[in-house]
Amino acid sequence: MSAPIVMKFGGSSVADAARLRGVAALARERSAQGVLLVLSALSGVTDALIGAGSMAVAGQEAEALAALARILDRHGSVGEELLGKSAHPELEQALADTRSELSALLKGAALLRNLPERNLDVLTGRGELLSTRLLALYMNAPWIDARAVLKTDSRHGKARPDLAATRRAAQERILPLVQPGSIAITQGYIGSDPAGHATTLGRGGSDYSASILGAALDAAEIQIWTDVEGVLSADPRIVPEASPVEYLGYDEAAELAAFGAKVLHPATILPAVERGIPVTVRNSLLPNGRLTTIARGSSSGRQVTALASRGPVTIVTVRTPRMLGGSGFLARIFEVFGRRGISVDLVATSEVSVSATVDDGISLDGLVAELEGFAELRIARGRALIAIVGDRLAESPGIAGKAFSALGDINIDMISMGAREINLSFVVAQEDAAEAQRRLHRAFFPDACAPADSASQGAQSARAGSAAGPAS
Ligand code: ADP
Ligand code: ASP
Ligand code: MG
Repeated sequence: MSAPIVMKFGGSSVADAARLRGVAALARERSAQGVLLVLSALSGVTDALIGAGSMAVAGQEAEALAALARILDRHGSVGEELLGKSAHPELEQALADTRSELSALLKGAALLRNLPERNLDVLTGRGELLSTRLLALYMNAPWIDARAVLKTDSRHGKARPDLAATRRAAQERILPLVQPGSIAITQGYIGSDPAGHATTLGRGGSDYSASILGAALDAAEIQIWTDVEGVLSADPRIVPEASPVEYLGYDEAAELAAFGAKVLHPATILPAVERGIPVTVRNSLLPNGRLTTIARGSSSGRQVTALASRGPVTIVTVRTPRMLGGSGFLARIFEVFGRRGISVDLVATSEVSVSATVDDGISLDGLVAELEGFAELRIARGRALIAIVGDRLAESPGIAGKAFSALGDINIDMISMGAREINLSFVVAQEDAAEAQRRLHRAFFPDACAPADSASQGAQSARAGSAAGPAS
């Protein structure tokens, strides 16, 4: 059998009927090769479902049910626009089933003031089931339930894939439907655990689904269609003049995603790397515009490929004079982090201290109590990580000096060079993070110029200016 392509469309690319028609057109243009379409929920729907769940848990049953009704009505109207005025029995059925199942779930949550993680996954995964239903009916293409294919463990809300089981299921259930000339449609973000319970891969997880399914099908290419022209040199909402990176190495892409470049889910790249499948990132509003190709051996060819930032994070500094000349302290300290399941991002050491960043918002009480038993501790919250990524950093002397002088009077709490020497990271106060990125971008991308106005940029920075940006 020949190799299909996987085309993943994010929330903004499936926001309404017009965008869904555009998706159908793009897929049909490429159908000769066989296409698996992987869709996110309509933009804003996952957030709205989570919102309805929170209302229910707060005891606001009526508000939660009203929010659900609005979500379903939106799908009803998009369906009407796509499929014509007369009710479409299959869509009606899907909406009615969703209404009865989710109403019961929300009423239960309101009664108990609790929404167990397993039910939360049932709730938040509905957006993808509905968006794909709309497109499958419009395109008259087979609809595949990803829960029957993408097999995961039971870590609800952040499930990890069982790649071997998923491969078997995908080869059996999907491959026959994506032969040359055919298009099939499935959901991103959702899967199921060994007991058959619905799971989700974490926010933004549709990219990951595309990559997992692409690997399972030995796809020729995984295309991530979004609302920007590929991976840009920085987050365009913070640095409006950020420009597309044409070629990106797998390591660079993984590093950027891990350091907060929202355009790709952090885990996306791995399944593709393992099978040597190229990933491209493209703009569904400018399909013939620029794009990023992420492939084995790819490189931007620049000293610095892109910047990324993530926050807030907390710095934990452990200081003990006994570290001086002693051995085993680092191991002892990190054993405590590891045992308590607290994952560490950046680490910097000196002769007598070690600093590590951890996600903000996680409870550090136990860790603090334990470490205070043998060292002095300092906790600094409200910080942000900034990473300068490029696979030529190691061979480019002077990068750090240039970064320091660009940052000027911005205070740097921590500096770390990644082990693979493709990122140089800083920790600064969260409130300085945006300005720090702008200064670094000006220093490392001196040719980039700010867009004259957002209209002339078109879709390039469709979301520029909204730091939060709508999720799907
Ligand atoms: P989708 O709904 O298609 O999955 P996302 O909102 O998850 O889209 O990701 C695309 C958004 O990621 C862009 O609109 C942009 O604001 C943001 N983004 C952050 N960093 C980058 C970057 N380095 N390059 C491109 N986009 C970025
Ligand atoms: N709809 C999910 C979310 O908003 C998954 C995705 O869009 O990738 O997180
Ligand atoms: Mg996304």
